[in-house]
Amino acid sequence: MKEIIKLMPVYKEMVWGGTRMQDYFGYKIPGSDTGEAWVVSAHPQGDCRIAEGRFEGKTLSWLWDNHRELFGETEGEEFPLLVKYIDARDDLSIQVHPDDIYAAIHENGARGKTECWYILDCEANSDIIIGHQAKTKEEMKSLIDENRWEEFLKVRPIRPGDFFQIPPGTVHAIRRGTFLIEIQQNSAVTYRMYDYDRRTGGKPRELHLKQAMEIVQCPYEKTSVFPEVFHEKGCDRTRLVSCRYYTVDKYDIMGTAMLEQSHPFLIVSVICGKGSIDGCPVKKGENLILPYGYGDVRLEGDMSLVTAYVG
Ligand code: ZN
Repeated sequence: MKEIIKLMPVYKEMVWGGTRMQDYFGYKIPGSDTGEAWVVSAHPQGDCRIAEGRFEGKTLSWLWDNHRELFGETEGEEFPLLVKYIDARDDLSIQVHPDDIYAAIHENGARGKTECWYILDCEANSDIIIGHQAKTKEEMKSLIDENRWEEFLKVRPIRPGDFFQIPPGTVHAIRRGTFLIEIQQNSAVTYRMYDYDRRTGGKPRELHLKQAMEIVQCPYEKTSVFPEVFHEKGCDRTRLVSCRYYTVDKYDIMGTAMLEQSHPFLIVSVICGKGSIDGCPVKKGENLILPYGYGDVRLEGDMSLVTAYVG
């Protein structure tokens, strides 16, 4: 039986959030400060429910715990990936994530976080922060102590369609006007370095400079990814990244295309347009999992998908 597991988003209101989830995808967002939609997540802070079918109403973590056969018997206590949309109406805080080893030791056995971003849309002249300019940890410390963030941070211009891989230890921040899809390890361990001296409810948000100083890669070495496009029948496939945690592709479907689901499981996010997957209608904003053993997938329509699998 060919089973498609559709998931429902979990929304997060944030001081910096906006309304583009609704504008782009028709999501029923909880308010005009919706910063994130966790669309494929089994994380305790946002566990997606299954929209229909024999598992309707169950959570993804429940499915992972009770039907591991759907995930090719992949090992691990927790579902390994997390996919979210982020809508930044304002700048996000400057942050950095630990790797698995640091997180295991200092965060009670948690995972580290490698993440990647595909820019769906942004305002003209938008930019993003990835990396920093300090040559040594001493220089980094004095720039931070003296509040010289402009000199410390590396800012780069962005355009829709840009893609970035963010390994642990990379200083990063999404800035105002950016709308993107993020694929990451299933982890919420974040060390906040700077929050533009903002206050929420009269108080500044907690910073974690001690941990950040320990884990920031210094000097910063740029991680470049070179997305490669393959022109296939009925679609263009772009390999965005393949690392030890995930492989991410983008499919631009024009008409009818075939793809093979030969992985333990395949995450599919429809980022643009509409069409069908094996006859099942799908449209932008929908997110699903094609389980283990699914095999050939028939894609029809005029739509773009971002897919992710483990390994
Ligand atoms: Zn991050």
